[in-house]
Amino acid sequence: MTGIAVLGSTNMDLVAYVARAPARGETVTGREFRTVPGGKGANQAVAAARAGGEVVMIGAVGDDVYGAALRAELEHSGVFTDLLHTAEGPSGTAHIVVDDEGGNAIVVIPGANSTMTALGSGETAAIGAADLLLLQLELPLSAVVEGARSARAQGVRTILTPSPVQLLPDELLDCVDLLIPNEHEAAALTGLSEPQAAAAVLLRHVPAVVITLGAKGCLYAARDGAPLHLPAPAVTAVDTTGAGDTFVGTLAVALGEGRPVPEALAWASSAAALCVQKPGASTSMPYRSEIDAA
Ligand code: ATP
Repeated sequence: MTGIAVLGSTNMDLVAYVARAPARGETVTGREFRTVPGGKGANQAVAAARAGGEVVMIGAVGDDVYGAALRAELEHSGVFTDLLHTAEGPSGTAHIVVDDEGGNAIVVIPGANSTMTALGSGETAAIGAADLLLLQLELPLSAVVEGARSARAQGVRTILTPSPVQLLPDELLDCVDLLIPNEHEAAALTGLSEPQAAAAVLLRHVPAVVITLGAKGCLYAARDGAPLHLPAPAVTAVDTTGAGDTFVGTLAVALGEGRPVPEALAWASSAAALCVQKPGASTSMPYRSEIDAA
């Protein structure tokens, strides 16, 4: 079983479903409201656990009602939460507007996630025991860098999702084995909107890149081979929230199992395509049997 450590955020997603997202200064009447456990870290943890990984979540929730619910949801999906700390104050929240075309706009308020500034010996040991470490940028950068360095020092492969996008210091990039931006993040990091050109620039800093392209699929590029574009399965998307995290969590499991990269990418694409056909983020992530069936 692939051992995966996730060092990342847990947020309660507060989701408003509307026909059309409001413009600045505008008020619109929505159709429905849901609270859905989320956060990029927790989402990737849930996706990886459902895909068959043995997953430990490293992070923090608040001591509010959302914190208890977030922990319970992770445990329900089989994620180990011993290293998910409970901090004083509110849990992280993400305020999400989903429109009728399946597009989304998101504001994240970090809450307890911002207390994760450094790692202790328990976190370092959990990283060392894993096959892969998954990182995103919703925790303080100091903890992300420390986690990546710890993984590198212990011979553990790292996957970084550079979201929310920000300037990435060399001390972090030097410890990243696979970078997985979406096309907007890849463009923001490189100044290049054409994915293949952006990938070429990113490969100067990391050995391999997957740029996710929404309904257009993904582009894989590595220093040691020709780029590979994999189209996404043609499906009707109702809510793309969590598609990227499903892709990353599932891909990590497949890579940890030693599957060839094209096969791992196809499996992750199947999982993400299943995710976009249902509303919500973690709630719409598929289990291994569903991915295999797709
Ligand atoms: P999100 O922020 O919505 O979770 P993202 O912006 O991080 O997603 P995307 O590039 O939009 O990432 O999507 C990730 C992957 O999900 C894609 O590479 C693709 O495999 C799958 N996917 C996304 N949208 C669709 C779609 N409409 N149809 C099929 N697959 C999709």
